[in-house]
Amino acid sequence: MTGKIGSTALGYPRIGPKRELKRALESYWADRSTEAELRETARELRIDTWRQLRDAGLDSVPGNTFSYYDQVLDTAVTFGAVPPRYAELGLGPLDTYFAMARGASAVPPLEMTKWFDTNYHYLVPEIGPDTRFSLADRTPVEQYREALEAGVTTRPVLVGPLTFLLLAKPAPGAPEPFRPLDKLPELLDAYAELLRELHRAGAEWVQLDEPAFAADRTPEQLQALGDAYRQLGGLSARPELLVAGYFGDFGEALRVLAATPVEAIGADLVTEPSAVDSLSGVPGLRDKTLVAGLVDGRNVWRTDLDRALTTAATLLGLAGEVAVSTSCSLLHVPYDVETEDIDPQIKSWLAFAAQKVREVVVLGRALKEGRDSVADELDAARAAIADRAGAARVRNNRVRARLDSLRPEHSQRGDYRKRREAQQKSLKLPPLPTTTIGSFPQTSDVRKARAAFRAGRIDRASYHQRMRDEIRRVVELQEAIGLDVLVHGEPERNDMVQYFAEHLDGFISTANGWVQSYGSRCVRPPILYGDVFRPAPMTVEWATCAQKLTAKPVKGMLTGPVTILAWSFVRDDQPLADTAAQVAMAIRDEVQDLEAAGIRVIQVDEPALRELLPLRAAQHGPYLRWAVSAFRLATSGVADSTQIHTHLCYSEFGDVIDAIVALDADVTSIEAARSRMEVLDDLNAVGFARGVGPGVYDIHSPRVPDAAEMTDLLRAALRSVPADRLWVNPDCGLKTRGYAEVEPALENLVSAARAARRDL
Ligand code: GLN
Ligand code: ZN
Repeated sequence: MTGKIGSTALGYPRIGPKRELKRALESYWADRSTEAELRETARELRIDTWRQLRDAGLDSVPGNTFSYYDQVLDTAVTFGAVPPRYAELGLGPLDTYFAMARGASAVPPLEMTKWFDTNYHYLVPEIGPDTRFSLADRTPVEQYREALEAGVTTRPVLVGPLTFLLLAKPAPGAPEPFRPLDKLPELLDAYAELLRELHRAGAEWVQLDEPAFAADRTPEQLQALGDAYRQLGGLSARPELLVAGYFGDFGEALRVLAATPVEAIGADLVTEPSAVDSLSGVPGLRDKTLVAGLVDGRNVWRTDLDRALTTAATLLGLAGEVAVSTSCSLLHVPYDVETEDIDPQIKSWLAFAAQKVREVVVLGRALKEGRDSVADELDAARAAIADRAGAARVRNNRVRARLDSLRPEHSQRGDYRKRREAQQKSLKLPPLPTTTIGSFPQTSDVRKARAAFRAGRIDRASYHQRMRDEIRRVVELQEAIGLDVLVHGEPERNDMVQYFAEHLDGFISTANGWVQSYGSRCVRPPILYGDVFRPAPMTVEWATCAQKLTAKPVKGMLTGPVTILAWSFVRDDQPLADTAAQVAMAIRDEVQDLEAAGIRVIQVDEPALRELLPLRAAQHGPYLRWAVSAFRLATSGVADSTQIHTHLCYSEFGDVIDAIVALDADVTSIEAARSRMEVLDDLNAVGFARGVGPGVYDIHSPRVPDAAEMTDLLRAALRSVPADRLWVNPDCGLKTRGYAEVEPALENLVSAARAARRDL
């Protein structure tokens, strides 16, 4: 008889509590350590994680959650989906894997994109008609054995076959009607083989993640889901199967799975609390274990355990067995709040991965042995929840009163034609004006100065002096290159969200709250815990410092409300729309102060507008309404003559294209160099008639484009956009590039604009 799942987590962070894996990877890539050393660090991290999860009291410990880079890439390698251009490099298995992740010599890496609506990025598998699936790599089996030897029985976690294929893209050159999903039957054979091997190794349970079904799916895809799990479930010798859906309501997929032989279904009951309703009356669920995702795997707040237990109680009659889990893998939260030296009251409201595991254990015990068995922990949780709900510091009545007093005209700018005239009179820009997206390369001097200031080695005055020196250098460079609208270069910003979080009330920053973004890259999202208020101007000093050095207009540079929310952990005690409006008010104050200080062009970046788009189309409308209102609230407090720019970091607008029109920015800069300006036709198709700056310089590559190439792009753009609306700029900020590339590239960009102007 197989053990019960009882209490578990769907996955765990793997970068290391002190980012040990990051350091080991980067040292291996830099040739400073050997493969054996990297493998040893990885092994120690895995073993520590398994033992910690077992010792914390989880009934079922997730396994195979380690990855050297990304779990989707791991899945591709496990099943032999290595595109020939990487296999042909003739490297060993680990270096072939890293070549797919990061590129090697002349071969660029696989494309990388966001994992659903999170800030984690996965590598996009390429599947073609010629892809031959097989069990090419046995890491999941080896790690099962490794855990067993370390004394821990694990439940290997795999990306499910449907999600894998739905996230893949057709290999280059695949004939037109081909879709990766066409290869499902072959892929299932390889999964079946892996399941049989895991069974032989002794695995009692295997978890297959199918988050792709928290998004809208076609009847055909749902049918394929049912067929796949009927087939895998029909294997004679296999582990018991847990199929986990997360990042939202599993919806129809739950009914489909309940009709297959899988033993357990994982449902996220946090993202959409109404998902609980869709569990009642599902035929077949009574024979299964429902793994209830009751602890938020993506946010950092302590769980209301009483409420979670009430929810669990309503589930008891619906499923054969109820187990408790996190709503998704804990990959998306930091390791341990206990290591943070932060305000003790706020700390008592928080739960990171280690604390969330404990919450799951407490919930599991309460269900099994009764609430009295964990009375102390339930009391402590109750007290923390009550303390947070009643805390004065979470509410700022002045902020609330200001928002209550807003009227529609606060989100409405004047007529665009009048704005344009007023702006042209004030700015006197040539046609095809040139500019950049904001940041200039962050030199090691700049980084060192910031670190020294942070560590108290230099005082505020000398830090500010260094920043002013840097701004002067950047302004002089832009003048020399001949750009039309200058920027101050953002040297004072560590990160475009963290900088603002550090200057706004209502946010707290962590010292060690790292979360994997991709590969060895981690981010430390700020925590937005209370009403947001701007105690003092945040950027005016830097923008005016730059403006004093030049007669050309300097563009003020701010991050928009949606992006600030997207890259922070946000409060869960009020609708996102309300939090966004508060952030928008703070940005609005800054916009107005910039204007009052003589800044005539202000850019409010919203690169994350599309990232927060809900997975289900039915929720797009409400989201886009509050997202657009927040942007408009932030940017509508200025005179017609002040030019508002926005910047978006992608070119596939699809579902957000109408929202981009609705933002009503005077100028929108977008990524376009790689898509050859096609995005302009998409914008025209919806009647977009404002300034637009399709990036002509792809800053994601170290390559310096020559002037002729950028002139061609501009000529292509001029076929869809009249010259009086077209701007000339790079794709994105220059922060990650070096001056050796940036200087010639910007010189070429200015020459290209001049050449294109001569055609007019
Ligand atoms: N202004 C920011 C910069 O230039 C924008 C960054 C972004 O789009 N992600 O760095
Ligand atoms: Zn960008």
